[in-house]
Amino acid sequence: MVKKVLKFGGTSVGTTERIQHVASIIKKEKSSGNKIIAIVSAMAGRTNELIGLSGAISNEFNKRELDVLLSSGEQETSALLSGALIQLNIKAKSWLNWQIPILTDGDHTNSRIINMHVEKINKYLDNDGVAIIPGFQGISKSGDITTIGRGGSDATAVAVAKIFNADTCEIYTDVDGVFSTDPNKIPVAKKIDRISYDEMLELSSLGAKVMQSSAVQMAMMYDIPLEVRSTFTERKGTKIFNQENIDYTKSVTGVAYSKDDAKVTIIGVEDKPGVAANIFEPLSKAQINVDMVIQNISSDQKTTDITFTVKRDEVSKTKQILKENTKINYKDIIQNDRVAKVSIVGAGMVTTPGVTYKMFRALSDENINILAISTSEIKLSVIIDENNTLQAIKKLHTIFDLD
Ligand code: ASP
Ligand code: MG
Repeated sequence: MVKKVLKFGGTSVGTTERIQHVASIIKKEKSSGNKIIAIVSAMAGRTNELIGLSGAISNEFNKRELDVLLSSGEQETSALLSGALIQLNIKAKSWLNWQIPILTDGDHTNSRIINMHVEKINKYLDNDGVAIIPGFQGISKSGDITTIGRGGSDATAVAVAKIFNADTCEIYTDVDGVFSTDPNKIPVAKKIDRISYDEMLELSSLGAKVMQSSAVQMAMMYDIPLEVRSTFTERKGTKIFNQENIDYTKSVTGVAYSKDDAKVTIIGVEDKPGVAANIFEPLSKAQINVDMVIQNISSDQKTTDITFTVKRDEVSKTKQILKENTKINYKDIIQNDRVAKVSIVGAGMVTTPGVTYKMFRALSDENINILAISTSEIKLSVIIDENNTLQAIKKLHTIFDLD
């Protein structure tokens, strides 16, 4: 008998009809002889709606009460799903965070799950019941209701899989799985059957938002295999697990992009020890996330240019901080907002020589100018003119055999 954790996201439980459909999926899994724990998100849009209500009362709505409010979204779907299962003659029961309990640590709206009690629910599973657990919430040591950050139902699912020692953790969502690039932009994008945690993290931080990144990180840490699949089709999804279990025939697994980057260049800064630290320390203190950094070789040994990228909506703050920085001297600051970051991601890159060259050659064949480059073991990113994004993705997708 297999113990499965099945997590259903907001669109999967977005209407009562969809909740009934989810109940039919669970019924099928149950009749195949599996033990089922289902984790649910709130109905799509509900959490935002509740935040809106709190905002109508106050911009600084009390955080403890906000958690009480927000957790109600998942309470709603838990009860509806349990009721839908009972309607199908399946023994089912929902438990709220404090009834289990799911113990959390940390601040309101941003707690993390540290443990949960398993006896009651395990006993219920042994007695042929389906257990429904609301995602996204827990209870603090002092007994207050907490939530664990937006998109947190994924993290609940992974934590439940770990603590209940489940055999599988399946994330049901509104897409078929993880794709080799954005299927909305590039129709030849292919669903990836198997992917490593690292690759998944690189792809999702680069825009392929299928699962909450911190939940993937947690799964990686505890080595919990995941499967992302669609609630609305019967198709097989994407399996996410440890790299050793993947046999790489391709050097590149996916092509990701982000369009909200900007490039800042400081011209004519002194070329001496400590300058880079003096530039970036105040930025980091202001929580500005600097992505790529390039320093040119100085021709006169005295001054150099430093280029870096930040998120586009942080450019003005970045420039402001640079201008107020009395520890650095420079000639000018220039910025380019119309840039995009295109990355190839693949655990197979480590063992394949020539990937870098192949990427640069492909872009040059398309007459696309590379403005900045950064590399890691499994990722190679370039900054290019925003207008060339689609063309670059298409080309890279093709030459790395992903079409
Ligand atoms: N309902 C919560 C949110 O929208 C948690 C989740 O859906 O995972 O952030
Ligand atoms: Mg969600």
